[in-house]
Amino acid sequence: MKFKYVVVGAGLAGLTIAERIANVLGEKVLVIEKRNHIGGNVYDSYNEDGILIHNYGPHIFHTNDKEVYEYLSKFTQWNVFWHRVLSYVDGNLVPMPISVETINKLYNLNLSTDEVEDFLAKRAVEVPEVTTSKDVAISKVGIDIYEKMFKNYTIKQWGVDPAELDTSVISRIPVRLNRDTRYFADKYQGMPTNGYTKLCENMIANKNIKVMLNTDYKEVIDDIEYEKLIYTGPTDYFYDYKYGKLAYRSINFKFETYTKESYQEAPVVNYPNDYDFTRITEFKKLTGQEHHKTTILKEFPCAEGEPYYPFPTKEHKERFAKYERDMKKEKNVVFIGRLAQYRYYNMDAVVRSVLDAFSEELNG
Ligand code: FAD
Ligand code: UDP
Repeated sequence: MKFKYVVVGAGLAGLTIAERIANVLGEKVLVIEKRNHIGGNVYDSYNEDGILIHNYGPHIFHTNDKEVYEYLSKFTQWNVFWHRVLSYVDGNLVPMPISVETINKLYNLNLSTDEVEDFLAKRAVEVPEVTTSKDVAISKVGIDIYEKMFKNYTIKQWGVDPAELDTSVISRIPVRLNRDTRYFADKYQGMPTNGYTKLCENMIANKNIKVMLNTDYKEVIDDIEYEKLIYTGPTDYFYDYKYGKLAYRSINFKFETYTKESYQEAPVVNYPNDYDFTRITEFKKLTGQEHHKTTILKEFPCAEGEPYYPFPTKEHKERFAKYERDMKKEKNVVFIGRLAQYRYYNMDAVVRSVLDAFSEELNG
């Protein structure tokens, strides 16, 4: 078999690069995917009751990057959707991220925006240098809110104390000194009208793109003649773990369907302190689908299983740096995406980095 370009992985990174190769360069490209579907972790599907679910956890598109938004908009229309998350704390459901509403509900107060600023300033802990996720939280909101809303959620999600995680994890969650209770404040937000899988199918609707499912690339790569390999799988696997295994956090997804219109008050409810799961997603509240039943998802984080999250601790970042030195030396391999680059990328950041890699490394 002969293909000028071979892409490993049919997630958003792999499909974006395949789309660019086929449509901009007009070249043939083979995408090899070990799962039985395209889309990677953004894959969605209809379950046996006909409800559209996100098979690998709730995915909400949000970005400030106009070019990425316009690029993906070539393959989908968007439902207007502002994501909202409630957190179950001390028997109350309070908005997450922390805003004026959160403080007022949590402490049964009626503070103004300015008063909340004072309230948090008085509680914020001065840390000499913000180097961990714990520092990020306590330096903004103080110990009590940290313990109520961040500490135990993070321990459940990552299996370690927030003091062991670098700043990137909790920095994802802003603290707002206003009444904006949306989860994201980005300019462009939405859900693909016909779902993510449809978006992905539209990306690769080009006869120059061939997809081989159910295949680990190592089973076939020696039988393929190619000039460039674009790799989106785990880096340690590519190098046969020569510097040791990189940790990725996994999740057990447990879906439940109920014969009722609505299950909970918001699309996602977080449970920082109760139960073993981190959050419950109710899909109809993300997709806007109408149905007399409703499907929910409970997420149970775990160490073993499919690699979903790169693990941002000092030890693993150092190990990745060793791999990275080798990656930079490769002449005919391009590493892109959340697994290969070992970065906690959102969808928009993946697409941005792939568009940049395409311009820099493949398009002249
Ligand atoms: P992946 O989707 O992981 O794709 C990699 C593909 O490579 C997979 O299909 C895998 O099977 C395949 N592969 C791996 N090894 C091999 C091999 N040896 N041979 C062949 N194929 C292989 N982002 C947002 O913007 N908003 C959200 O709300 C959001 N929520 C998320 C919730 C969860 C629970 C998770 C896990 C992620 C979330 N993300 C979200 C992030 C988003 O999923 C990623 O940014 C994006 O899917 C990464 O795409 P990727 O192609 O880099 O990786
Ligand atoms: N987090 C938390 N409490 C919450 C929500 C998030 O402590 O109620 C922390 C936790 O460490 C989590 C991180 O913030 O891993 C990022 O949250 P996000 O919602 O972005 O996680 P994702 O959707 O990527 O799993």
